[in-house]
Amino acid sequence: MNRSAGMSSDPGFVKPVIVRAGDISYEALIGAGLLQRVGHETARVLRGPRCAVIADANTAGLYGEPVMHSLKEAGFAPTLVSVPPGEGAKTLEQLGRVCDAMSEARLDRTSFVVALGGGVIGDLAGFAAAVFHRGVPHVQVPTTLLAQVDSSIGGKTAVNTAAGKNLLGAVHQPALVVSDVDVLRTLPPRELRQGFAEIIKHAVIADPALLDVVATPAAIDFAAVVRRNVEIKAAVVARDDRDLLGQRAVLNFGHTIGHGIERAGDYRRFLHGEAISLGILGACEVSVRRAGFTEAERRKVFDAISGCGLPTRLPADVSSDAITAALAADKKFERGEIRFVVTPRLGAAHLTDAVTMDDLSAAIAKLR
Ligand code: ADP
Ligand code: ZN
Repeated sequence: MNRSAGMSSDPGFVKPVIVRAGDISYEALIGAGLLQRVGHETARVLRGPRCAVIADANTAGLYGEPVMHSLKEAGFAPTLVSVPPGEGAKTLEQLGRVCDAMSEARLDRTSFVVALGGGVIGDLAGFAAAVFHRGVPHVQVPTTLLAQVDSSIGGKTAVNTAAGKNLLGAVHQPALVVSDVDVLRTLPPRELRQGFAEIIKHAVIADPALLDVVATPAAIDFAAVVRRNVEIKAAVVARDDRDLLGQRAVLNFGHTIGHGIERAGDYRRFLHGEAISLGILGACEVSVRRAGFTEAERRKVFDAISGCGLPTRLPADVSSDAITAALAADKKFERGEIRFVVTPRLGAAHLTDAVTMDDLSAAIAKLR
């Protein structure tokens, strides 16, 4: 179906955000009531007919039925494959299970995958799509705020191994992204909150007006906020889709210290967005010291994070040494050169090598 002309009369029409990555581009649809349209929208870009809906036990129970129904109505033959909820599902073992279930359901290279869940499912199902029969298309249907504003866009997929997080993966862009903001209503509050960390990251690196939007979380228009965040991420991905030029690195703002904190907390203590909130504050402090970011701007970011109910202080029992040790274990730091993303002012960010380990230690100390 051609949606370019006269389609505004379609009551379900939502203006897509176009994501460009290298030679390919795809639509991200954002709005309410979209779960019921997944089949119809997918039929515009993929043929199938066989497909696998990969979900975790929670998202399968909540949203498996409407998505399966919508796909069947559009003429597809879907099979629901469910994995246990949580980061623990991002393993080679689960990847094998998912791919076996797909083979059993007689999916082949003409088939496709639908990822129905948060970042964990997006990564696992996206990676399954990247390797099944040497690569089949996938549709991302992100169900967490974090996945809608960040991880469903840009094509990064991965599983964890004993040696590290996201160690095996592929860049495999989806054929379509469908973000139904209605599903955010069932998200546990802590899961919803952590999504605001990536929104605040996008605010700092690209659009300070978003800081005012998150200042009143209860009044948020999620469709508008998710759309703006997808536009921001898409603009960065378009400049550097394979993460080769260092441009995509700006999306790592707050993530160097943030990853150190996640690791120091054994990946159990903090949700990703919680660790990133502290990482963003640390990066703002480094930026005050090294990039001309003002104390008033840092305060504004602090207030946004705190206003969203995200952490602004490191718990006493998480030692600074554990965090700096985790940073030092990072390959980027081994060679003695620290490549760190700073913000010179709200709405801008760039990589620099002017940051020292002492700057990082001082910034971490300020999180107490
Ligand atoms: P992310 O990496 O995006 O934070 P996960 O995939 O780890 O998300 O999901 C976090 C948790 O929230 C999981 O237990 C998952 O089953 C659950 N979940 C995901 N989406 C929803 C939703 N819309 N409603 C309720 N629970 C959800
Ligand atoms: Zn992140």
